[in-house]
Amino acid sequence: METKYECIRCNYKSRIFKDIVRHWNRMHLCKKNQDNQNMLINYSDDQSLILSMIPLKDNKRIINMEDLQYLDDSSMILDNKKELFEKMDEIENKCSKQCQICNKNFSKVFDLKMHLLNNCYYTHINNKHKEKIKELEIKDKIIEEKVKDLILFDNDWDISHISKEKKIYIITTNFMYTILLEEVFINEMNLNIIMNKNILNGYIYVIENEKKNFVEIQTESLVIKIMSKLNKLLNDMVNNTDEDFMKELKSIILLKINKKLNDFHNNEEIKNKVITLMGNICLKNRSRTIDISKKLLEEETNLYGY
Ligand SMILES: [Zn+2]
Ligand SMILES: [Zn+2]
Repeated sequence: METKYECIRCNYKSRIFKDIVRHWNRMHLCKKNQDNQNMLINYSDDQSLILSMIPLKDNKRIINMEDLQYLDDSSMILDNKKELFEKMDEIENKCSKQCQICNKNFSKVFDLKMHLLNNCYYTHINNKHKEKIKELEIKDKIIEEKVKDLILFDNDWDISHISKEKKIYIITTNFMYTILLEEVFINEMNLNIIMNKNILNGYIYVIENEKKNFVEIQTESLVIKIMSKLNKLLNDMVNNTDEDFMKELKSIILLKINKKLNDFHNNEEIKNKVITLMGNICLKNRSRTIDISKKLLEEETNLYGY
């Protein structure tokens, strides 16, 4: 019986292409047969995979090893084998002669398989890989630019991105504190709080020992600070409106804003509710803040383990 395919690693043999694909598609690769002559040669993962997929003719593989030199240290095909085997499967099932990646036509199904195995698929994932790196570099660069402008927690948040109309809406609603905080965090420059997932504590971006750093803080003390920051911003917002109809309302709104802060300080039930609300708004922005803080970490400081 003539064997057509042989696994380079373990010498498993089959005449059926799908068998060898299944053999390589398992979660764990087969054990290398140490007596195997092939093991004397140090094939890379990808070379082993490709060689195993190429049929033997009179006990010889119909490929020139020089053609696989580009895979000398590569395991990229093996790491992305799922998509390759899906494509191989489709070629088998449909007897397709057109490459799904580059659209090239072949006269034989076998030629297409060889084309996909040797080169086309590798080029395809290699390009995808490069694109991904480029994307990451762009994302990194954007974050880097934001990092430069990240406002320290003890300074006022920048609310210049909030429109005049929105500001009027915020100061006249009943939920002025929470809505303002949500709005504050839309601006990346204001993302100076990292909330821990348990909402018991978090980190704020401050100057400590003459260095900018994210420093741990209990959520209760954090929310007390947030409330006084928001109170200041709300007062400024009211005082800075120049709408005519606001003139008479200003003093009433200011009373309301400051009464809310007093209630927060003096009513334990309200306080706990606000801590949960504000903690959750911070948590919602956690991943955006972490992206920025990671960049900061690389650049200047060390963040206490989170
Ligand atoms: Zn094997
Ligand atoms: Zn192709």
